[in-house]
Amino acid sequence: MKIWEHFVSGIILSIVLFPIFKWDVLVILIINSIVDIDHIFRYWEKRGFSLNMSKIERELTDIYKSEKSKRMIIYNSLAIFHTLEMLIFAWIVSWIYGYYPIAIGFTIHLIMDYEGIFRKMYKLSKKIESSPEGRAISLVDWFRRVYFEKNIT
Ligand SMILES: [Zn+2]
Repeated sequence: MKIWEHFVSGIILSIVLFPIFKWDVLVILIINSIVDIDHIFRYWEKRGFSLNMSKIERELTDIYKSEKSKRMIIYNSLAIFHTLEMLIFAWIVSWIYGYYPIAIGFTIHLIMDYEGIFRKMYKLSKKIESSPEGRAISLVDWFRRVYFEKNIT
């Protein structure tokens, strides 16, 4: 899901959740949008530092398309804020401080992303018997991919 899609769906969700969380919905909205900073890190890694969001958004599509053609690269890439471990960490910190909007923002973002990823994988699995497409959903999975499956093509 693209950054602007998270932002727009986050606004809709914020309106729905406002009666429960009041102005904390702004924290949920910000966290929901900011998790995609992983993609900006990816852009900086590939093309150098820039804060021009429209340029980043436009060129990221090209980067991911070219990486998909070289499946190994995207398969081994790590999006740290998109991992289950980070989600668990957010919930533990929220539980310790008794403040949940950050963990809720994280959760909403990942549900939206994973829904898209699983839908894509399901479509792909109909075409290809087993597909390693898609980024690692956990640090353990990423570690396994990088260190134990080096020869996947
Ligand atoms: Zn995302």
